[in-house]
Amino acid sequence: MAKKMTKEVKTNKTLIQYFEWYVEGNHVFWNKCKAQARRLAEFGITGVWLPPAYKAGFTEDNVGYAVYDMYDLGEFDQKGLTKTKYGSRQEYLDCIKAFHDAGINVFADVVLNHRVGADGFEDVSAVRVNPNNRNDNWSEPYTISAATVFDFPGRKGKYSKFKWNHSHFTGVDWDNNEKRTGSIYRFADKQWANDVSHEMGNYDYLMGADVDVYNPEVKKEIETWTKWYLDTTGVDAFRMDAVKHIGASFVKEYVAMVREYKKGCDFPFFGEYWHGDVNTLCDYLDQIDNAIGLFDVPLHFNLRQMSYADGNYNMAEIFNNTLIQKRPGNAVTFVDNHDSQPGQSLESFVNTWMKQVAYALILLHKDGIPCVFYGDLYGIPCTRNIPIPRLRTLIRVRHDFAYGEQHDYIDDYDVIGWTREGDGDHPDSGIAVVLSDKRDGCKHMYIGRQFAGKCFRDCMRKVREVVTVDADGYGDFPVQGFSSAVWVTEAAYEYLVINED
Ligand code: CA
Repeated sequence: MAKKMTKEVKTNKTLIQYFEWYVEGNHVFWNKCKAQARRLAEFGITGVWLPPAYKAGFTEDNVGYAVYDMYDLGEFDQKGLTKTKYGSRQEYLDCIKAFHDAGINVFADVVLNHRVGADGFEDVSAVRVNPNNRNDNWSEPYTISAATVFDFPGRKGKYSKFKWNHSHFTGVDWDNNEKRTGSIYRFADKQWANDVSHEMGNYDYLMGADVDVYNPEVKKEIETWTKWYLDTTGVDAFRMDAVKHIGASFVKEYVAMVREYKKGCDFPFFGEYWHGDVNTLCDYLDQIDNAIGLFDVPLHFNLRQMSYADGNYNMAEIFNNTLIQKRPGNAVTFVDNHDSQPGQSLESFVNTWMKQVAYALILLHKDGIPCVFYGDLYGIPCTRNIPIPRLRTLIRVRHDFAYGEQHDYIDDYDVIGWTREGDGDHPDSGIAVVLSDKRDGCKHMYIGRQFAGKCFRDCMRKVREVVTVDADGYGDFPVQGFSSAVWVTEAAYEYLVINED
């Protein structure tokens, strides 16, 4: 008997970065995440990026990027505490299970570039380099006292007996003899990796003790850890931290190793390569054979510029020189993140009043995988940033109604728009989006003859009127100045209003 074929309905993916820099951990954050899992799935989140889960060098409130021990997920009494900022190992595992039960994929934050909070110092021959051009040596080799001994006395060899010493690192930023801040030291018997960003001459070094990923013992240990971590946690994907500071050929091999290990499942990767020039990102993708997705940093900068231009931004150019334009299959789009938020190192926050426009753009346009920021969904109390109005509704529209062929009208200095025709797999799908960074406007757009005579309403609920599609499948879709209008079918509108938060 022939097997009955069931058609798989494809749903739009939407990620959320489920933390911001100042999120209150109180060592119970995993429990809070767990409690929200079902709710996030309900309004259309399909993947959650959780913060780094391992013990940090400074325990109390470290976000997790100052990695001390990657095997300590809140299990060992190390660095003054058993739990991490976010909770215990068991709470982390329970949290992942809750997301899986809700049908949400979990993206783990993998930090391979550096280690912080060593257990001891070693005498190492090193060269002091110019911090602004790391190829420029400022000294002959001399002996420094480097924080490169990691033997994890609290863990006592559980899971891995590997102990780190200076031979596993390329450099540090602290000599415990001289105690001089702002310095960078390259170990005399090492060179910086060549295939990293060329900013600062060579950007292999970022912080802490820089891991020498090309050392064979290190490579093997990273592989051992990775397999242990995948088996222990069951996470579905990796977000790779600071890839511009890690050798590209290592990253390429690493991705291949993980995918080989997870044979049979699609294992997504996306990397953080913080650079505003799209050509730099494309060159990097070429170097690694397009193996991973990258955050669309150039689009973030376009959105930011638009948001502060007071209406003097050319909206027709919003996608110019972005990853979504040049490499749509590799683009992870975002409006803001934990580094761009107020008070952080790369602060470049998109102006709040234009954030709804920015989110409509990344969530409802076809290409790229959008990643919503925790701080925009819930607000950031300590810097008084408000939750973005109707962000949940936009995510819901993406999940339920933003399907079918797209028609772009990205053609005007102030008012742009596009439509999606909808498809047969998603009831009541089909949308028209109109965005303005200045004046009130209206877009005459084709949405499909199948909608002839049908009415559309703005689920952002700024424009009150109803748009009726003409016999040729066109409608005149208005928008108020400095805002977004998202036009959906009447049935979709009713659904969205009932489910609005
Ligand atoms: Ca590095």
